[in-house]
Amino acid sequence: AFEVLVIGGGPAGAAAAVYAARKGIRTGVAAERFGGQVLDTMAIENFISVQHTEGPKLATALEQHVKQYDVDVMNLQKAVGLVAPKTPGGLIEVKLENGASLKSRTVILSTGARWRNVNVPGEAEYKNKGVAYCPHCDGPLFKGKRVAVIGGGNSGVEAAIDLAGIVAHVTLIEYDSQLRADAVLQRKLASLPNVTIVTSAMTTEIHGDGAKVSGLSYKDRNHDTAHRVDLEGVFVQIGLVPNTEWLKDSNVALSNRGEIEVDYRGETSMPGVFAAGDATTTPYKQIIIAMGEGAKASLSAFDYLIRLPAE
Ligand code: FAD
Repeated sequence: AFEVLVIGGGPAGAAAAVYAARKGIRTGVAAERFGGQVLDTMAIENFISVQHTEGPKLATALEQHVKQYDVDVMNLQKAVGLVAPKTPGGLIEVKLENGASLKSRTVILSTGARWRNVNVPGEAEYKNKGVAYCPHCDGPLFKGKRVAVIGGGNSGVEAAIDLAGIVAHVTLIEYDSQLRADAVLQRKLASLPNVTIVTSAMTTEIHGDGAKVSGLSYKDRNHDTAHRVDLEGVFVQIGLVPNTEWLKDSNVALSNRGEIEVDYRGETSMPGVFAAGDATTTPYKQIIIAMGEGAKASLSAFDYLIRLPAE
């Protein structure tokens, strides 16, 4: 059995594994895809002290750093269930899709999240070539250019306000007849001179010239008319879904959005189970934040372990 078992091999999981291994305790990492969302990222320019890197490069560095230590890395392993110990302080069980199960004194959940796609022609083709999901990450790449934000909930309206300060013009596209963001955000958005808000609009296609995005088409749902906007970037903001479906039947408390509820130490509602990164209620989903939270969850797990009664 492990003393610390990390589920997920993104920035949060990698940081948790390194911190645990450095305590000299039996550490394992099971990940469906080691590297996580970082593998799908191109330019990364906000990982402080590294001016510029690329996703696959950072993912390789994460794996190499973990493998410097005596960590049992189990890649391509998907967790499907978490079972609480039979007695307090006992072994926690993680069930894998392949039928096997792993046991550990503590578990760190860091299964991340995924952006919801609009699923229109051009979205997949121009991902990282004008189609973006993270305004904090990619906003500055569109300085002085024209962009659209798809989605009029809080994250879409926040993104539009943020981007309006950087880019030349923002078109906010909302499917519904009205925005769903908080009133205070809507008022702020309406006050900005370089923002156009389009409601009752269904995005139908993202256009490009083969190398990068050149426009977006939408259907006006009230008049059934087709429209095209020329622009250089599209930010899709229709939701970030935590990878926590596999925890629904466990005793780990999830928020109404499916995020793992954690306290300031990274503890979940189940003793011995900690969590970090995009899968949790911690706000602002960023690499540097996920790594910090992973380190914190690992140190909390260590604190928990040294308080367990000797066997
Ligand atoms: P993830 O990176 O999502 O990793 C989750 C891990 O858990 C993966 O290994 C996954 O395979 C595994 N997993 C999931 N479910 C299971 C399961 N059931 N069993 C086992 N393993 C499982 N952030 C920045 O700071 N700067 C940027 O420039 C930036 N650009 C981005 C660009 C794109 C296109 C995207 C998608 C994200 C970007 N982000 C950026 C956000 C950043 O990637 C995330 O905040 C960060 O990766 C979160 O780390 P994490 O470890 O919590 O989760």
